[in-house]
Amino acid sequence: MDERTLVCDVLIVGGGPAGLSVASTLPDDVTTVIVHQDREIGLPVRTSGGTWMQDVTRLGIPDTMYKPMRVTEVFSDKEHAAVSLGDTIPVILDTPKLYKWLAQQSDHKDRKLLLSTKFLSTRQREDGLYESRIRGRDATYDCVVSRYIVDGSGWHFAVLEALGLAQKPERLAVGTEYEYPLGQNSADRVLVFFGKKVLAGYGWVFATAQNTIRIGVGVIQPDTENSPRDLLEAVISDKRYLKRLGLKLEGEPVVHSGILPSVAYDARLVFGNVIRVGDSANFATPTIGEGIRVCIELGRMLGVQLGRAVKTRRHGPLRSYERRCRRALKHDYKWGFVVNTRAARYTPAQWDAAVRRMQQVGPDAIVATFRGEFSRVKMAKIILSMVKPFLRARLRRLKAQIKPG
Ligand SMILES: Cc1cc2nc3c(=O)[nH]c(=O)nc-3n(C[C@H](O)[C@H](O)[C@H](O)COP(=O)(O)OP(=O)(O)OC[C@H]3O[C@@H](n4cnc5c(N)ncnc54)[C@H](O)[C@@H]3O)c2cc1C
Repeated sequence: MDERTLVCDVLIVGGGPAGLSVASTLPDDVTTVIVHQDREIGLPVRTSGGTWMQDVTRLGIPDTMYKPMRVTEVFSDKEHAAVSLGDTIPVILDTPKLYKWLAQQSDHKDRKLLLSTKFLSTRQREDGLYESRIRGRDATYDCVVSRYIVDGSGWHFAVLEALGLAQKPERLAVGTEYEYPLGQNSADRVLVFFGKKVLAGYGWVFATAQNTIRIGVGVIQPDTENSPRDLLEAVISDKRYLKRLGLKLEGEPVVHSGILPSVAYDARLVFGNVIRVGDSANFATPTIGEGIRVCIELGRMLGVQLGRAVKTRRHGPLRSYERRCRRALKHDYKWGFVVNTRAARYTPAQWDAAVRRMQQVGPDAIVATFRGEFSRVKMAKIILSMVKPFLRARLRRLKAQIKPG
């Protein structure tokens, strides 16, 4: 082995929230290499960073890394609803700051983070170790030998594809966002819009902690052939539409774009000593494509289980990771995917009806749908809150009928 080869216990491909979270909980003495093809952690921005107060608190994310939103509004072509989310507060993460913080969680460990370095291919040797080709800008190393590989490469599925274990997903959520100075726009309002301008997808607007406002459009391809950038251009050039959304966008925008898988959840996460996590394991919610909190939580769990596997050379801890992910996600994601595929076919009139329904149902139902949670109790609550207005109206009519005289 020459000096251009790195030897480690675990190779993590991808320095996104999933890969970094795995590294953060691996034992300090487990030798780890993270290869990340971008020049900097967290940049360029490829995500919106929307999540929930209850999750950032639970995950111990410092409050300097997110901004709470106080007002939530939903628009379709003909309807508009200011929706109540009860005690559930949406927050917008400062993702470059958050991802750098996640990277720092493993700074003290026996870990090498190689930026501007791309994983190219891998093969399993006769001794069971993986020999992976990498390409970095400074060309210091070109090979990593490891016992385990974690595929945290997002929608690229880089390791799984290199080993022929899975194909890159064919159905993808593709998004583009423009970021403007906040100007006179509200600093704590988040809104989503549906309808003919964003068919097979949706649009969103929110303010950030950096005094900017972001407007974005995401669509599912190939359900539509429209590009999110073209749709977004059409939205921002329609001044009447922007006025209806209550927006005034000024200045030259910074452009962000990103991709995530939009396919049915596949519970297989462990392939011998190759394990997938994050978007390459389809962890984002099928309803609105919210993945960061899931990547952090389950990534941290993988770090703990993988640490046990490295120390004991046993497979049980990895099976436990797979089982616990299945338990956490499979049911919700099955129903979430049903919602996803139906909503992708909604007509503008169906979106109008859906926004009208949002005005009638309670916060629990809206939050459960946004969060992609469909447990039996939550489903019962959703159904109950949907039928409640009809039951009340029925009761009123009955009372009127039996009124004496
Ligand atoms: C437009 C858009 C909006 C979104 N909005 C939200 C939101 O509001 N809230 C939310 O929670 N989630 C959101 N998501 C989803 C969220 O961004 C993802 O679920 C999350 O980023 C997945 O993290 P990850 O670490 O698995 O993958 P990624 O964040 O994709 O990170 C993987 C990293 O691996 C690197 N990589 C890939 N291939 C290689 C290779 N061969 N070698 C080395 N490095 C490689 C990539 O450059 C990338 O940086 C959004 C996604 C998109 C696309």
